[in-house]
Amino acid sequence: MPDHDNSRAARLAHLRRHELEKGDPVPLPLTMAAMYHLPGDPSGFRQYGRFNNPTWDAVEAILSHLEDAPAIAFPSGMAAISSVFFTLLKTGDRILLPSDGYYTTRVLADRFLKPLGITADTRPTASFLDGGFDDYRLVFVETPSNPGLDICDIEMVCKAAHATGALVVADNTTMTPLGQRPLDLGADVVVAADTKAPNGHSDVLFGHVASRDAKIIAALTEWRKFAGGIPGPFEAWLVHRGLETLDVRFDRMCNSAEIVARRLAEHPAAQSVRFPGLENDPAHNLARAQMQRFGFLIGLRLGSEAEAEAFIDGCELIQPATSFGGVHTSAERRARWGDAVAPGFVRLSIGCEPVEELWKAIEAALPKV
Ligand SMILES: *Cc1c(COP(=O)(O)O)cnc(C)c1O
Repeated sequence: MPDHDNSRAARLAHLRRHELEKGDPVPLPLTMAAMYHLPGDPSGFRQYGRFNNPTWDAVEAILSHLEDAPAIAFPSGMAAISSVFFTLLKTGDRILLPSDGYYTTRVLADRFLKPLGITADTRPTASFLDGGFDDYRLVFVETPSNPGLDICDIEMVCKAAHATGALVVADNTTMTPLGQRPLDLGADVVVAADTKAPNGHSDVLFGHVASRDAKIIAALTEWRKFAGGIPGPFEAWLVHRGLETLDVRFDRMCNSAEIVARRLAEHPAAQSVRFPGLENDPAHNLARAQMQRFGFLIGLRLGSEAEAEAFIDGCELIQPATSFGGVHTSAERRARWGDAVAPGFVRLSIGCEPVEELWKAIEAALPKV
């Protein structure tokens, strides 16, 4: 397993240093602006708040540093995903989506791409390579998939997809750029919901797209400018601040998740536990090979819907909530949204609480067997 990227993490909080003049504030100033002072020839200057903003520039600089690629900010993860679809696809194209990935991506394709003559097929993440990628313009992977935590081999998918001329887009939300590096494994585009661990405080929606293909970045920048799905400067400022502590939070969350997953796997109340870090998990070997960390999400199957609900509501250190990646541990029963998982399946997002206290609270709330 490649090492956790300490050099990138260490430099992250110092990125603005070279721009500062004596007397400047060290923390990022928030610039709320629709208008810029713009007499005469406007070319080469900031012109209007829908085109650019210095607080976006700062958050994009951090995201680019983390991705090692140009990055563009969007007001949500779905705005980032939509921008990729609507910029790169045209009538007659076919795309391939994971059948077990984030549900809204499939809804977007079904409701808004299909009427434009863009067909979407789906395939389970665990067998994503089966069937090849002939005739696809775009292949979309989400690994580990949310919520089932199955994994596909990003490098193999990229090789096979590129051989047929398809673009590979990876939704890296569950891992963040510190936990998995799809662009280094060959993906053309990374999309992510910074709503989750990158912002990390459950108070903002945000997303980004990163790519080393300059044409794709230019097209997405134009799309954002003309379609108008732009991030708010305050949200960009909050995400910038969140990203400064991503390394510490993510490290704590991943370490704690490994401990909690191991103990859950041995607990008699757990019918099964999915966590890529467990040696007997079907995804373990692939996870070791392509991920820097095993993540902070755990799939825990309890005996029934009632057991799962009682566990989630009854644990004093778990927030019953949808979404994940916050400083607080949170959980939900994904079947309540119609995900194809058992009624007792709980997606547990491990937070930053001290792990022994967290485990005590989890153990106390598990069903008695
Ligand atoms: C949350 C999530 C999204 C969507 O992000 P929003 O910010 O809610 O729009 C996309 N993909 C995955 C894997 C997610 O978990």
